[in-house]
Order: sequence, then structure tokens, then C-alpha cells
Amino acid sequence: MEFRRTHYTSQVTQEMDGQTVKLAGWVHEIRDLGGIMFLILRDREGMAQLTMFKKTIDPQVLETAKSLSRESVILVEGSVKLEAKAPGGYELVPARIDLLNPAQSPLPMDTTGKVNAELDTRLDNRFMDVRRPRVNAVFQIRHHTLSAVRNFLEQEGFLEINTPKVVATATEGGTALFPITYFDTEAFLNQSPQLFKQIMMSGGMDRVFEIGPIFRAEEHDTTRHLNEATSIDIEASFLDHEDVMQLLENLIVHVYESVAKNCANSLKTIGKELDIPKAPFKRLTYDEAIELNNEHSKELLEWGDDLSTNAEKVIGKVMGEHYFIKDWPTEIKPYYTQPYEDNPELTKAFDMMHPRMELSSGAQRIHDHDLLRQRIQDQGLNPDGFDFYLKAFKYGIPPHSGWGLGAERLVMTMLDIDNIRDVVLFPRDRKRVSP
Ligand code: ATP
Ligand code: MG
Repeated sequence: MEFRRTHYTSQVTQEMDGQTVKLAGWVHEIRDLGGIMFLILRDREGMAQLTMFKKTIDPQVLETAKSLSRESVILVEGSVKLEAKAPGGYELVPARIDLLNPAQSPLPMDTTGKVNAELDTRLDNRFMDVRRPRVNAVFQIRHHTLSAVRNFLEQEGFLEINTPKVVATATEGGTALFPITYFDTEAFLNQSPQLFKQIMMSGGMDRVFEIGPIFRAEEHDTTRHLNEATSIDIEASFLDHEDVMQLLENLIVHVYESVAKNCANSLKTIGKELDIPKAPFKRLTYDEAIELNNEHSKELLEWGDDLSTNAEKVIGKVMGEHYFIKDWPTEIKPYYTQPYEDNPELTKAFDMMHPRMELSSGAQRIHDHDLLRQRIQDQGLNPDGFDFYLKAFKYGIPPHSGWGLGAERLVMTMLDIDNIRDVVLFPRDRKRVSP
């Protein structure tokens, strides 16, 4: 059976009036108005209206059209007729409709946007949920976001790497890990590519990035945490924390600009106009952040406290746009962050924040072997478990810096989406491991 299309619905243009095209996709809606029948065909890129006057249409085409159930897959051959009121500015007069695969009814959920489904129903039927134009648009934007990230980093001289997700030890203390059975020993799903990307600084790769999954076995029940998330990670030699903060803000601006440019249709579908942030982002010191919180919130913080969710919200509201918090107490940042040489109580670490939440954490890293080993010990971890990592610091590793940026948080804050589960195809949370 022939099932090749000549065009996506969005590729049919004004100049094609009268031409024959083949469109392929799903039966989105059928409207039978007596003398005239409309069929809306939907593909990944949009919709097209098939118009059939019962008096003039080939009876066999009409019969096929009448027999179609919603969401069936069809191939339509027809001639283009400009029609300002139809989606895309044209209608198709079908000469032939082939049913490629029928859909059973009733459908597990509605795809037209007329009936709202619960999140659980949508996720249980994700294949059908993604057919909805709004959801499709979100994932097109997610694609373009990651594509813009890759373009930007490649232009800045970064090499894309892939590091293992099955590991023998934790990256950082504190975060819970998912244990797995690895032949006859125990292993874990990696919570971050941190150690491996740093090792590659010793490998002389200079600037690397990875876009990959991170696994965190924390029993979160929030709209901004997943147990499997996607992290955009970079590590760069011969750069300090200020340098990689600059890279990060420029990347964010580039992503917004690229999405605004390449995703006009998708943005329209979800009804979102992008506000492109301006670099440089404001920089608060940790001290200033604490002060701001204490000025505006009833929940007072003391020096040395981590920022609570509430504090992130309060400070975010005051700032009103992306910003950095830098110069954190060494105590509350991971062992691998570089303390200031003249004030080791503070570390060259930063968080990059959207008014709603944290998007990224980064730092200049310790490159001195002995200091790093000491810091691991100070944080109550056993340095012996880190031999494979520490070894890379004994034979010449340059000063280096980097950050990790949550891909889902980047997309959800850019698009004003409330729940992180709406920007992942198959979210993994405490209650969901399937599909
Ligand atoms: P939070 O304090 O918001 O839970 P974190 O400080 O534990 O985040 P990091 O270890 O700093 O997270 O990871 C770097 C980035 O990866 C975060 O800023 C965030 O964007 C993303 N990220 C981390 N954990 C998760 C998660 N469980 N779900 C979604 N994104 C995450
Ligand atoms: Mg963090």
C-alpha cells in the first residue's frame, strides 16, 4: 500500500493553488453538515481541512470518509484550493482517501482540546496525549531548546561527551541513589556526570558538555522535581566561575532567541510570547540573598542556611528576572567547589535562578589533589571510594569550572508551565515508572 506524503499540512502554500498533493496523518475531526462534509486531517506540523460537497464528490471517497473513526490514520490525495477561513489558508478537495490503519473507539482520551483530561489519564495515554497540538508544541520547543544548546556550546568550543549512568559510587554525599543489581555486585544509577566530566579535564578535553539523564532517589512530591531528569552539564578548563557564569547567561539568552525565531507556530499554539532575558543577569552574593529574604519574608534565615523553597520564591519575586547567587558558604556546597584562597569560609560556587526556581548550580572546582581529598573527608565521605576520581588530580589537571542546568526547568520556566511533568514525555516520579 502506498503511504508516502508529498507535504506536511504546513508546507502547502498560496502558490500551490490547484496542485495535487498527498497528505498523511490522523483524522482529527469529522463534521457532517448534510450537503457538505468536513474532515480535519492532523499531522505533526498542523491541520488541513478536507471539503467534500456531497453532490460533486466521488461517491467512493465520500463513503470512505463517512466510515472513518476519529484518530484513524489516512493518506489523502487531493487538489489544493485557497480558502482564507480554513486552517493554513487552504482546503483540500480529495480525489482519494486511503485508510492506512483504523482507530478503535471510544478513544482513551480526547485529542481536540474540548474535554480536559486529568494529568494521570494523559500520562497513561501519552501516545495519544502527544497528538494534542498543545502538547506536540511543547515537545517541538523542547527539541529546539536542546538543539540551540548544542549549537551554542559547539560554537564556544565544547565537545559533546557521554558518561556512564551505571556507577559504583555516589557523586556527592546526601543525595539518595537508586541501587541496581550489576551482575553479582551492587551498583547505582548516577545522580550527576560531575566526577566524569571533571576527569576529562585531566584528559585534556578542555571543554566538554553532556545532555543526559540524572537519577535522584529523593521522595520529592513537587512540581519541579523528577526522579529521572535531564541535565545539561558543562565543564571547562582554564576558566573560572565568573567565566562560566557568563557562558551560562549567554546560553540562556541564545536559547530564548532561537526558540522565539524557530518555534513561532508552536509558541502561538500554546499562547506564549517569549520575554527574552537580557545578559548580564544580576548577581547577588549569598549574603545579599539572605538579607533580601529577611527583609521580605517572615521565615528568617541565618548565615549558613541553605535557601528554602520559600526563600527562593520571596527573593525571586523581588528580583523579577533571571539572576545569580554567588559566594556561598563553603559548608553548604559540595566538596569539589573551590574555596576563596583569601577567605576559605566562602566558595566560588553559584546558583542561577529563575524567579520561580533554581535552574543551575555551578562553581570553580578544586584542582589541588590534597585539598580535594581533605574536603571529601571534611564532608564525612570516605575518600577511598573516590580513588578513580582523585587519581585524575595527581598527574596534571588544569584549573576548571562548570555547571549543571536542568533541561526540564529551563523549558518549563521559559514557557510558563506549572508542572515539570508536562515537559517530559515519560516522567519518572515517586508514583510513576510506566509507561
Ligand atoms: P534543588 O535544590 O532545586 O532540588 P539541586 O540543588 O539538588 O536542586 P543540583 O544538584 O544543583 O540540584 O543539580 C543541578 C540542576 O539540575 C538543578 O539546578 C536543576 O535545574 C536540575 N535538577 C536537579 N535535581 C533535579 C530533579 N530532581 N528534578 C528536576 N531537575 C533537577
Ligand atoms: Mg543546586
